Amino acid sequence: MLPVAKIARKLAAVAGAIEKMNANIAPGNFYPSAGIDAQPEVQVAIERFRRLSNEDRAALPLLYWLLNASTPEFKMSPADAEYQDGPHGSQACGNCDFAFKHVKSGTMICSQISVPIAAHSWCRLWSMYNE
Ligand code: SF4
Repeated sequence: MLPVAKIARKLAAVAGAIEKMNANIAPGNFYPSAGIDAQPEVQVAIERFRRLSNEDRAALPLLYWLLNASTPEFKMSPADAEYQDGPHGSQACGNCDFAFKHVKSGTMICSQISVPIAAHSWCRLWSMYNE
């Protein structure tokens, strides 16, 4: 059996190591397993996300980052998608499966076309929102 003083020293050493480890881990969303099997371009975009400031990472879900500023080259242009500033009957971005809304800012983006969208707008890629 270890003497109490020796146990206390070992516990203090472990606590110190944990404290040191925590100091080296930046807070925020790192999504450590994200992108492991993704295409190389997406892996690069995820690495760019991880290099954002702690504040920027904390304000942005990774999915929003990937669908917005980091992947426009994979999206269709508004002209090709026949994007229009108004609905098409009952179809609009606000009830489309491809629309995403940033909760804090209220900004809407689309996973299919390369610009911010408006809830009342529409394009030919519209697809019924499924929960
Ligand atoms: S696919 Fe078209 S209709 Fe759907 S959210 Fe994007 S821009 Fe709007």
